[in-house]
Amino acid sequence: MIVMKFGGTSVANFEAITRSIFIIGSKLNRTPVVVVSALSKVTDLLYRISDHASRKDAEEADRLLSELRIRHLSLIQELLGETSSLYDQAIVDVNRICDTLTEVVNAVCALGELSDRSKAVIISYGEYLSSTIICHAMNARGIRTKLVDARTMMISNSDYLKAEPDMKAIAVKVPEVISKACEGMDAVITQGFVASTMDGDPTVLGRGGSDYSASLIGMAMDAEAIEIWTDVDGVHTGDPRFVKGTRSLEKISFEEAAEMAHFGAKVLHPLTIEPAVKKNIPIYVLNSMNPSGKGTAILNNEMIEDGVKSVSFKENIQVINIFSTRMINTSGFLKNVFEIFSENKVSVDLISTSEANISVTVDASQDISGVVEQLSEFAEVIVDTDKSQVSVIGKNIVKLEGSIKRTFAPLKNCKIYMISQGASYVNISFVIDREVVMDVVQDLHNYLFYDESSN
Ligand code: ADP
Ligand code: ASP
Ligand code: MG
Repeated sequence: MIVMKFGGTSVANFEAITRSIFIIGSKLNRTPVVVVSALSKVTDLLYRISDHASRKDAEEADRLLSELRIRHLSLIQELLGETSSLYDQAIVDVNRICDTLTEVVNAVCALGELSDRSKAVIISYGEYLSSTIICHAMNARGIRTKLVDARTMMISNSDYLKAEPDMKAIAVKVPEVISKACEGMDAVITQGFVASTMDGDPTVLGRGGSDYSASLIGMAMDAEAIEIWTDVDGVHTGDPRFVKGTRSLEKISFEEAAEMAHFGAKVLHPLTIEPAVKKNIPIYVLNSMNPSGKGTAILNNEMIEDGVKSVSFKENIQVINIFSTRMINTSGFLKNVFEIFSENKVSVDLISTSEANISVTVDASQDISGVVEQLSEFAEVIVDTDKSQVSVIGKNIVKLEGSIKRTFAPLKNCKIYMISQGASYVNISFVIDREVVMDVVQDLHNYLFYDESSN
C-alpha cells in the first residue's frame, strides 16, 4: 500500500487533475490511498469568506461563495462532461456541499461571531469539494475509487485550527476504515488537512496540513511509501521562489527534512516527517508536472551522506530577550520561563543563554503578548521585531571541520544578533535584520553550493 498526497497546485484545474489521475492510475498495483488538498487558493478563499462573515459582510461573503461554487461546477463540466453518468451525481454532490457551507456562513453572518470551531468547519470545505470531484473523475476514468470521510478516522484534540493528532486513536481507526473501504476497489481517496475530535467535533491540522495527514495515514497503515506530489522537482537546496540557482536534492535524511521544514522550507508541513520516522517509511517528494523526474527521497539517517544540504530561512521572526539577575545560580529559572511559553502555546525556534540573559526566537505570526506580560513579572523583557532567521542544514555539519567558518565567511559586514547550533548536529542558525535577509541567503547559497573555495 502507498499513500499519495496531491497538493493544491496538483489538483488546481482540469489539466492538473487529469495529470494527477494518470499518475495514480500507474500505481494501482500498490493500492494507493490518495490524500488531496483543496484546489489551489481555495483554502485562502474560505478564510476570506469566514472573515467577511465574522464582520457581518453578507454581500461579499455571498459573492465569494458563488465564485467558489462556480469554480467547482465548471471543473465538473470539464472533467466529466455532460455525457458521463457520473456528471449528474457530481453536480448534486457539489451543490449539496456548497449549500451546507452557505448555511454555516449565513449563521456566522447573522451572529457576527466566528469561533475557532466554526472557522475550522468553514475552511475544511475545500478538501471536501476537491475529494468529491476527484473521486468521481477517477471512477469515470475506470479507477474504482471509494471516498472516505477523513473525519471518521483522523482523530485529534480540540485545538480546532491547529489540532494535534491522537496517534493512538489514529493507529486504530485508520486501518479499520481504510481496509474496509479498499474492499473491491482499486484506490481510496480522502481529504487532507481535516480531522475531528473523538466526540465528532470538526478540526483542522493547520495550514499546509495535508502533508501531515498523508504521513499519519502512512504510519497507521504501515505503508511502503508516502509520496508527496507537488509543483517542484523535490526538495531543493533553497526556496526556489526566492533563491536563484537552487537544485533538487536526490536524497536527504528524515532529520534534515524535518529541520528544513521547521526552519522555513514550505515544501513540507513541519510535522510531516515525525510519523514516517516512527515506522521508517520513505517519503518521496515528487513533481506532478514532471512525473518521470526523480524528485527527492527522504530516508533513514544511515543512508545519507554528511554535508550541507540547504539554506532555509524564516523571513519574519521576533526575538524575545529575557534579562534577570535572578537567573544567576538559580535552579528552575529556565523551567519557569519555558512553562510560560508552553502555557501560552507559543513555540520557540532558537534559544541561546548567557549568565543573566535568555534569547529566543519565535515566528512573527505567533501572538506573544501573554508570554511577555507573564515574563515581565519577574524579568526585563525586550522584543526585537523585523528580524529574520537563516539556517544552514545538513547531516553532521556542526561536527564537520570548518562548518562555522564556511557559514559565516560570506556574511562579511552583516550584523548578527544571535547564533545557535542545533543540538542535533544538523543545523547552524543565526538571526539578522529582515531588510538584508534575501541578499544574505542568496550569497550564502552561492557560496556553499557554487563556490569551489567553500569546500
Ligand atoms: P502543495 O500545494 O503541493 O502542498 P506548497 O506550495 O505547499 O505545495 O509547497 C511547494 C512549494 O514550496 C514550492 O512551489 C516552492 O516554491 C516552495 N518551497 C520552499 N522551500 C522549498 C525547498 N527547499 N524546496 C522545494 N520547494 C520549496
Ligand atoms: N488546503 C490546506 C491549506 O491550504 C491544506 C493543504 O493544502 O495542505 O492550508
Ligand atoms: Mg503544502
